[in-house]
Amino acid sequence: MGTFPVNKIREDFPILHQKVYNRPLVYFDNAASTQKPVQVIRAISGYYETDNCNIHRGVHFLSQRATEAYEETRKVVQRFINAASSSEIIFTKGTTESINLVASSFGKQYISPGDEVLISIMEHHSNIVPWQQMCLDRGAKVKFIPIHENGELDMEAFRKMVNEKTKLVAITHVSNVLGTINPVKEIIAYAHTYGIPVLVDGAQSIPHLGADMHDLDCDFYCFSGHKMYAPMGIGVLYGKEKFLETLPPYQSGGEMIKEVHTDRTTFNELPFKFEAGTPNVEGVYGLHAAILYLQNLGLDNIRNYENEILKYATDKLTAMGDIRIIGTAKEKTSLISFLIGTIHPYDAGVIIDKMGIAVRTGHHCAMPLIEWYKIPATVRASFAFYNTVEEIDSLVEAIIRVKQMFG
Ligand code: PMP
Repeated sequence: MGTFPVNKIREDFPILHQKVYNRPLVYFDNAASTQKPVQVIRAISGYYETDNCNIHRGVHFLSQRATEAYEETRKVVQRFINAASSSEIIFTKGTTESINLVASSFGKQYISPGDEVLISIMEHHSNIVPWQQMCLDRGAKVKFIPIHENGELDMEAFRKMVNEKTKLVAITHVSNVLGTINPVKEIIAYAHTYGIPVLVDGAQSIPHLGADMHDLDCDFYCFSGHKMYAPMGIGVLYGKEKFLETLPPYQSGGEMIKEVHTDRTTFNELPFKFEAGTPNVEGVYGLHAAILYLQNLGLDNIRNYENEILKYATDKLTAMGDIRIIGTAKEKTSLISFLIGTIHPYDAGVIIDKMGIAVRTGHHCAMPLIEWYKIPATVRASFAFYNTVEEIDSLVEAIIRVKQMFG
């Protein structure tokens, strides 16, 4: 496929070179979590071999070196997502924690009874439940933007749903079930004409499309390291300084304070106000290495190759006849959710697994979307730049086997 050096790239991912059930492992569960290149693995072990230490508070050599590396990564992230300032980059556990932070702090500051938060029916639970909980507490309401049958957002409905009660729009850039790339730039521009801030869930978009805060002009953007070749337990919340300055802290304790007295506490400046406690320093080292790895490959090269893979897989599955693809938006990233005739996705998933292929079956933490489609679940194959057309051929073979067994 093209000139993309996929075989060379695969050498960087040790986990891919193993057999499961005596067959070569095919890893198509990248939307759940990606594998890690040796560069990331080495960055983590290197941290423990030479730099391990608690950061920020120490005057000694190791603490200073680890602190410098941690803060340098904040700048690396800032440049990677083209944010205006590194104080707009807050390290979190991941997308879920980033969204919870905004829901909690933004809710306290800006949401009153009767207000509305707009999200879409294709959101992951982590971009639904925090808003539901916050709205329950504040006497506000979550409203769901509908979609079209092909998995594209109903933009006309969205525009009609925006009103004077709308206080925030929270939308995923890419659906983890449908692969749909939402027109977030258009959504942000429209919401901003009414002065409404927008949070973008970038968990599924950043590994495929990168992100540009200046271009998008969103007010909050959230992502997880583990879906972009970095470790688990590290993620980012980007927030515009003008909002972050006004929001109350999410968690309290060490690091996030300026002064603590028995009768009062003052808070640290950004971004530390939102980073209470000892952070995930090894995760930050790994995230740094993952970003360098992606930049070295080139996001355009990644996108082109993954598009070819997506097209190849879509053509092959469509040609099988009785495969129903859930999510056929014009703009998609490299994943396919599907049903094989009337065979239950769990039955299909078990057989596909036995052929050495890791796909995901279920509601993919998007139950409202699955209910909207009136289906029990889907099988989801999600691709990364280390996947090959030969692996997709293996998936086709596995589907044929499923049909033989259950058809
Ligand atoms: N949003 C989307 C679109 C996702 O796909 C996921 C992970 N499946 C999340 C949010 C939550 O990410 P995490 O579990 O890393 O916090």
